[in-house]
Amino acid sequence: MTDFMTDTGAVFLLAAGPFVGSFIATMAVRWPEGLSILSGRSTCRSCAMRLAWFDLVPVLSWLARRGRCGTCGARIALVYPLTEMVALGIGIWAVTQFGGRDLVLACVLGWTLLALAVIDMRTMLLPDLLTAPIFLLGLVVAGIEGRLGDSIAGALLGFTVFALIAMAYRRWRGRDGLGLGDAKLLGAAGAWVGWAGLPSIVLLASVAALIVALPTAIRVAEGVGRREIAFGPYLAGATWITVMYGPLMLT
Ligand SMILES: [Zn+2]
Repeated sequence: MTDFMTDTGAVFLLAAGPFVGSFIATMAVRWPEGLSILSGRSTCRSCAMRLAWFDLVPVLSWLARRGRCGTCGARIALVYPLTEMVALGIGIWAVTQFGGRDLVLACVLGWTLLALAVIDMRTMLLPDLLTAPIFLLGLVVAGIEGRLGDSIAGALLGFTVFALIAMAYRRWRGRDGLGLGDAKLLGAAGAWVGWAGLPSIVLLASVAALIVALPTAIRVAEGVGRREIAFGPYLAGATWITVMYGPLMLT
């Protein structure tokens, strides 16, 4: 019976994934415009035609319409099917590591991290409205598992280290490099992984960001391309991997 309940829960979570992704993409697209996120039916952003139920089926509707609005033919942003597929992937990934309550918690964490990553990529912002729940959930999970002290230490250390780096950078270069949003996100991550997990997150995120940013840096040096990169997606990915597999063991 327990196995059956667990399996049913896992199937439900996997089935929910693409729809959660659809919601995340909508939120990320509407966030900078201040449009209502939770209310209002979905409409085509070009012709304002209300979407039929069929158009709200993740990924498949995008494929069936070949990425265009059924009424006016306007392109539907790739962020929708991509986010929907990544959200499904997060559910599948979580199932490989967790079951039961931990699986639900992992999915909530993963999907919130995904929302932060997508919003940061589009707006260079990491909203407190999404970081705060991760932080609180991390504390609650740690409390249940009897490691609240470690969790609080991780949150404080993660936030403080990045906040100090952000302040130092601003003083040195006269502009923002690392944002306070990054500091808050690392703090929230620290609540999940404890202070000992923080080096893994910072290392993974920095290496990934360097690999991706190097071509960008070269383009900027050549006078094309944006200078700033959003660090949030790397922090989010590194947090996910560290929660999934634990801290890197460098021995
Ligand atoms: Zn349209």
